[in-house]
Amino acid sequence: MSQHDLAHAHVRPRTAVLTRGFDPALSFGSARPAVFRSSTYVFSSPEAAERAFDIAGGRVEPAEGERPDLIYSRISHPNAEILEDQVVPLEPGARAAAVFNSGMAAIMTAFFTFARPNCSMVFTRPLYGGTMGLIHHFLEPFGVHCIPVAAGDMAGLDEAIRSARNLAIVYMETPANPTLIMTDIERSAEAASRHPDHPVMMVDNTFLGPAFQHPLLLGADLTLYSATKYLSGFSDMVAGVAIAKDPEMIRRILSNRVMFGNILQPDECWMLDGRLPTVALRMNRSSKNAQRIAEALHGHKRLSRVIYPTLFQDPEQKRIFDKQCAYPGGLFSMDFRGGKEAAFDFLRRIQIAKNAVSLGGVETLACHPKSTTHSPMSAEELATSGVTDGLVRVSVGIEDWRDLLADFEQALAG
Ligand SMILES: *Cc1c(COP(=O)(O)O)cnc(C)c1O
Repeated sequence: MSQHDLAHAHVRPRTAVLTRGFDPALSFGSARPAVFRSSTYVFSSPEAAERAFDIAGGRVEPAEGERPDLIYSRISHPNAEILEDQVVPLEPGARAAAVFNSGMAAIMTAFFTFARPNCSMVFTRPLYGGTMGLIHHFLEPFGVHCIPVAAGDMAGLDEAIRSARNLAIVYMETPANPTLIMTDIERSAEAASRHPDHPVMMVDNTFLGPAFQHPLLLGADLTLYSATKYLSGFSDMVAGVAIAKDPEMIRRILSNRVMFGNILQPDECWMLDGRLPTVALRMNRSSKNAQRIAEALHGHKRLSRVIYPTLFQDPEQKRIFDKQCAYPGGLFSMDFRGGKEAAFDFLRRIQIAKNAVSLGGVETLACHPKSTTHSPMSAEELATSGVTDGLVRVSVGIEDWRDLLADFEQALAG
């Protein structure tokens, strides 16, 4: 930590995201970080090069406050380090972070760091399609025993964790996509902590983090993000982040990132860095918009249901939401009575919202999960996950909610 960082070590997260990590003195006094596009770095001396390699190779520990010479940009570069320092305060309980060139790269690297052949992993289902693909087409053939539990089935999750042998990872997505079913992070973390194998408990926090849900405070070890979504917020880049309580966990992940070569590039780091100070503002606005719209559409004659946390009926789901989420978030789903045809008609008619996959941007997007994001799932998985023919998922942006509601109402009326 430089003097500059020390002076700001105890400020609140919204301040720290603007003050940590970046020292203007190292960028010719520029108020915002410069972009360092170099692939390689000139050493201050051969001894400094030797020391930098010893530290990078884990053979010696850096001294307190030491800044070893940079080496090569696949290992690390200034923009990645600035971004990693600035993302940490956004995740309460975090002490270290690693940035990747996609959310899938962050998830893949975390899995490969903590899984071994013949170990097992317990996970909630449904998961993001790419993560399911990674489990079925890579982890299972590699000899990892992957044990699914339906999202929200807390008794089932407790039992799956308790009875798993050689348990390396407990992995969850909450809320689940696109049905927003919530899984109790704290209870799962307690079950994981009672297991003699001390599994690493990971939460994909893309949907409600970092502003509204804080898994590390609830006992999780690692949060993973598709920074493509809310963290960057403008649907114009692909990136991922892993954030941990224990810096040693990030150190292990980073040593694999060097081998996999999936660090986020300097320009992308710089872009994402500039988006972090507004993530809470954007997420707040999206959540308020989504709540207004979801509650207004609730009970519409063409919809059998609107799925949104403030409309939950199940007392257990309500309890989990109240306990672990600060706000309901910017995503809602609606189930059309007229099935796929009615859902497609709606997607053809919307004018402000756009028919696209992805989420978390300032613009409103809507998609039909069953025929797109969830199309690789089996009929049985679709049925148990609640992905019906008539389901449309909406990621609400920061437009004026009244214009969005009018757009949805005209598209529903047609
Ligand atoms: C988008 C997404 C991912 C994958 O992230 P990429 O940045 O597209 O690689 C993982 N998990 C969730 C919940 C997502 O929404």
